[in-house]
Amino acid sequence: MGYTASDTRYEEMRYNRCGRSGLKLPAISLGLWHNFGGIDSYENGREMILRSFDLGITHFDLANNYGPPAGSAEELFGKVLARDLAAYRDELVISTKAGFSMWPGPYGDYGSRKSMLASLDQSLARLGVDYVDIYYSNRPDPETPMEETMKALDYAVRSGKALYAGLSNYSAEQTVEAVEILRQLGTPLLIHQPSYSMLDRWIEGGLQDVLENQGMGSIAFMPLAQGLLSNKYLNGIPEGSRAAKPSTALNESRITPELLRQIRALNQLAVSRGQSLAQFAISWALRGGKITSALIGASRISQIEENIASLSHTEFTSEELERIETILKK
Ligand code: NDP
Repeated sequence: MGYTASDTRYEEMRYNRCGRSGLKLPAISLGLWHNFGGIDSYENGREMILRSFDLGITHFDLANNYGPPAGSAEELFGKVLARDLAAYRDELVISTKAGFSMWPGPYGDYGSRKSMLASLDQSLARLGVDYVDIYYSNRPDPETPMEETMKALDYAVRSGKALYAGLSNYSAEQTVEAVEILRQLGTPLLIHQPSYSMLDRWIEGGLQDVLENQGMGSIAFMPLAQGLLSNKYLNGIPEGSRAAKPSTALNESRITPELLRQIRALNQLAVSRGQSLAQFAISWALRGGKITSALIGASRISQIEENIASLSHTEFTSEELERIETILKK
């Protein structure tokens, strides 16, 4: 069956301006790191993408190596784009990145001009598009001069292969340096993509201030700590969950009795606000408007629907915020 987007797709979602740019991003974006690879069900991936779009999620986040196998998430998205979303290309913000290990040899990772621009061409081919909306350096390169990586981003934008440039996993100091170089080149940095959740606060009081001062947007990845901040693991590790799968980034050993105590206490607080723990975690990440978008992952449509409902309740009382800090300190 052919796909026609829902007429109501822009009615519920909130769109936030990305820093001091002209671009707005949905308050919740969908990432294709897990569950959209060649080993996963194409139909399930397609349905999650299309349902997301129907719910107002206009931004889909990829990287060269998402899969497995590496590259297959871009291929899956490219297939859905060609078959179902071609008419909606101008309603979509598609991002991809390079920086983590992608192909063998000295040019398949990090941030040399050689690697960054070859990877971008590969991503465009897999996605079947002439340009991506945002192109990221996925991690800082300790050996390549920052200027070289930033010049590659600048070239990506000038050549029309990307509309905007972004950074991911750069420290506050590295971000200041990168902003300065790209500003001199005439290509402002649009956005930073850091990890951020109640369990991962490294951006507070450093990077977050830099982004605000520099007028950059931010999109927080892993706002659910890969599912730990949901009701999924409250009573053990369910079959098919990320922690139950071999060789994923979420190791079973992460789920300690101390963590479970915290998660259960947070869950009680979530319930008292009329939210699920996943909704609570997303609302928390978006509180106060410092984050442009919360970048979630999902393995099924029902999770996306549940998570989007968090937008109706993103305000926290000071008592709730204090209670969260107390729980996390224990
Ligand atoms: P999340 O923290 O949102 O975790 C997503 C996982 O949580 C899902 O796969 C699912 O796990 C579980 N989940 C989601 N919603 C619910 C719910 N309502 N109830 C119960 N469980 C739920 O983020 P990810 O770790 O997936 O990362 C999101 C995106 O961020 C990635 O796809 C990628 O685009 C980006 N990213 C970027 C990185 C970078 O270096 N720039 C690094 C990592 C991610 P399950 O599969 O077990 O059902």
